[in-house]
Amino acid sequence: MITFGWDLCHRCNYQCPYCGIWHDEPEKDVILSAERWSEIWKDIYTRYGECHLFISGGEPSVYPDYFSLITLISQYHVVEICTNLSWDVGRLVPLLTTDRLRIAPTFHPSQADFEDFFAKAVLIRDFLPLFSEFLPYRQIYYVAHPDQIRDMPARSKRCLAEGIMLIPLPLRGDGFVLNSEEEKRIIESLSPYSGSEKMAYQLKQVSPQGKACRAGCEYAVIRTDGTIDRCSQYHTGELGRILDHSFAFLPQPKICNKEFCPIESQWIIPDIKPENTLQTR
Ligand code: SF4
Repeated sequence: MITFGWDLCHRCNYQCPYCGIWHDEPEKDVILSAERWSEIWKDIYTRYGECHLFISGGEPSVYPDYFSLITLISQYHVVEICTNLSWDVGRLVPLLTTDRLRIAPTFHPSQADFEDFFAKAVLIRDFLPLFSEFLPYRQIYYVAHPDQIRDMPARSKRCLAEGIMLIPLPLRGDGFVLNSEEEKRIIESLSPYSGSEKMAYQLKQVSPQGKACRAGCEYAVIRTDGTIDRCSQYHTGELGRILDHSFAFLPQPKICNKEFCPIESQWIIPDIKPENTLQTR
């Protein structure tokens, strides 16, 4: 299934100190009606079939007509919302089924109350993403901010008792992991991805540079201004724009020239031969 990351808007109702998105040019956001977006996603459906849309921001729930937008688009695609969970989940969840909607919540320690967040996560448990097809756990994310990193072990246990896996997200800024070595050890001790390649990429212990990657072939990121990139680390708009039908996937995997792949390392192909790839500009 084709996957899109869709950065819906810069706007956010939180102002986390480690995040530059909420004060970064919201005037460039494309603001369209729910009906217009629905037409655009119907067109993508006719070209690629049902896709997986991973909607984030900013905070998607502050986008105008958010509830209609999600309801209309989920007619065509499986929608997953990356959210701080500050909105009325009880209003959306009864409108959709778990095969059309997933909610991927992230706890932001500097802005949210854990008890509120936890209660909502338990309420929508069946809509949380599955941890894996082999384990019956759902998952939530927790930004490993120094202020509340020491609360993580106890909170992780409470989540597990509800069948929910707490996934620590290392603190990032300007291409670096900002956690101290001690904090990284806490993250690794709690993360179910500890020891995995994914965690090594997240903590910048491994570089993707020179590796062939399927990002751009089966996956793309739509920016808030409508330009489309191969992944969140590239800002070249090389795949076109969502509004003018210029969008096209790359014909084959391409070599990555970045040093940090904190989010989408699942698209890396470890052993592809160089002659079967495009070279990076
Ligand atoms: S390896 Fe990571 S950073 Fe490089 S293109 Fe792929 S997803 Fe993007």
